[in-house]
Amino acid sequence: MANGKPGWFMRLKQNGQSQLPNSKHFKQNKIMASVKEFSVEEKLSSLVTLQKIESKLDEIHILKGELPMEVADLEDEITGLKARQTRIEEEINGVTEFIAQRNEGIKEAQALIKKYEKQSSNVKNNREFEAINKEMEMQQLEVKLAEKHIKDATEEIAEKAVLLEKAKKNISTKESVLNNKKAELEKIIAANEKEEKHFNKQAAEAKSHVDSRLLASYEKIRKSYRNGLAVVAVERDACGGCFNAIPPQKQSEIKQHKKVMICENCGRILVDEELANNIEVK
Ligand SMILES: [Zn+2]
Repeated sequence: MANGKPGWFMRLKQNGQSQLPNSKHFKQNKIMASVKEFSVEEKLSSLVTLQKIESKLDEIHILKGELPMEVADLEDEITGLKARQTRIEEEINGVTEFIAQRNEGIKEAQALIKKYEKQSSNVKNNREFEAINKEMEMQQLEVKLAEKHIKDATEEIAEKAVLLEKAKKNISTKESVLNNKKAELEKIIAANEKEEKHFNKQAAEAKSHVDSRLLASYEKIRKSYRNGLAVVAVERDACGGCFNAIPPQKQSEIKQHKKVMICENCGRILVDEELANNIEVK
């Protein structure tokens, strides 16, 4: 553009004026032109303003996306912990049932022992006595075994009760964190909505100071980059978007604010640092 040829923006402008006179389009263009007579400097300032506002809106959108995820993660974690609690409770019930069965077994064995004791006083011979004695010993062993099982199972229940307490505590801690997070999220969403409205209003205002063609170019460039930057400042002799070096001649043209200048490498609209730094959005 240093050779004096009109830049892309000037060419666009010329194309726009090649409408036939008296056509409906021409009249509309004339009206629009009379409304939108802004200097390049004004347009650039508006574009920088718009870029800054939209970058803020982008930030809000990113934030909005992450917060509900945090809450959802916590909810998932609590669901997992509750499933664990249920599992431990079921295990405790199982062991309790087992203890009851063993107690029942002890009762039965003791009843048998009593029965054998009675029988042993009426035995006819030594062999019968020994046979009954053997049965009694078996039942006594049965009782001892059951008692051992009950002891082990009782210990197991005590261990599981500790785990259950831990799980319950963990759940209630997480639930209170979740409730706080939810309240925080609602507050932030409400604040974001307010901020978003505020910035959307400002964006509309800034847009009204840029002609539609330039605005369309800006939006097209913005959409083509993930960071949403269409207007960048020249920083340390390089494009602030792609870091490609900008020659001194081009830099001085950029500073003059007479033409809309773009980066040859990335196509972004370039402004000087001073112009960019003078604009602040709140
Ligand atoms: Zn660039």
